[in-house]
Amino acid sequence: MSEGQDAARGFGARMQHENEAEFQARQKLAQKLAQIKHKILVMSGKGGVGKSTVAVNLASALAAKGKKVGLLDVDIHGPSLPTMLGLENSKVISLQNDIMPVELGNLRVMSLGLLLENPDQAVVWRGPMKISVIKQFLDNVVWGELDYLIIDSPPGTGDEPLSVCQYIGELDGALIVTTPQKVATVDVRKSVSFCKQINLKILGLVENMSGFACPNCGEITQILPPGGGRGIAESMNLPFLGAIPMDPQIALAADMGKPFLQQFAESASAKIMQEIIKPLLELN
Ligand code: ADP
Repeated sequence: MSEGQDAARGFGARMQHENEAEFQARQKLAQKLAQIKHKILVMSGKGGVGKSTVAVNLASALAAKGKKVGLLDVDIHGPSLPTMLGLENSKVISLQNDIMPVELGNLRVMSLGLLLENPDQAVVWRGPMKISVIKQFLDNVVWGELDYLIIDSPPGTGDEPLSVCQYIGELDGALIVTTPQKVATVDVRKSVSFCKQINLKILGLVENMSGFACPNCGEITQILPPGGGRGIAESMNLPFLGAIPMDPQIALAADMGKPFLQQFAESASAKIMQEIIKPLLELN
């Protein structure tokens, strides 16, 4: 056999081996994902609109209903879930290739923030590195059986949400978080266009920072003309899931690392969050 034929045969064998390894990894992932009934991506057109706040609180609301919930933070550059859930000092246990999520009652949480030695460390990674971490989160985190996996995606329509969707394959859909201003329409449109391009169902739009909830009497005062989020949803034919006010107690709970819904269960904002999860509870 010539040298060229030898090299070609070696290359072929290597390719076959790699294909087999990839096939096995895919099968393992499929088995893992089959244990999770519903997978939901929480996204927003830009940062600071309260996407992580909404993700944490909806996950807590589902957990409070007795559902087993996983919360995966794929915001690689700004993982805020550990702070919001008071988990800054929690350590993730890993056994060989398995990474155990941190457990908070019915809620299992994984975030890059839980793996960083120093929370002030900036993560300076290019796309392929970020994608590889997201793949590891999906491949190696031992979620076990879950009713819901809520994925907190970084703002925008970049590598991270795309990788999650491509790698998981089938999600129930996306929740888009927006603020009420008309100018937010453009950002929502981009998220909607992203979902359409990758055939991801949009479960609905959540308006955050909608009016101001008085910490003394609970009354919600509209600051901007009301109905912004609903108007955006109607103009784009999206289900409107609800409007959460700007509520100092929401910010306080996040800063204290205490789930808002446990701390202020009787507040108007908590009741609104309970309403927003209703369509999620009805998913088949
Ligand atoms: P994003 O994930 O969109 O970047 P965050 O969820 O991190 O936004 O929220 C940004 C800040 O705004 C946080 O300090 C959070 O506590 C606060 N925040 C978000 N939603 C509300 C709200 N409805 N009421 C009060 N503060 C809020």
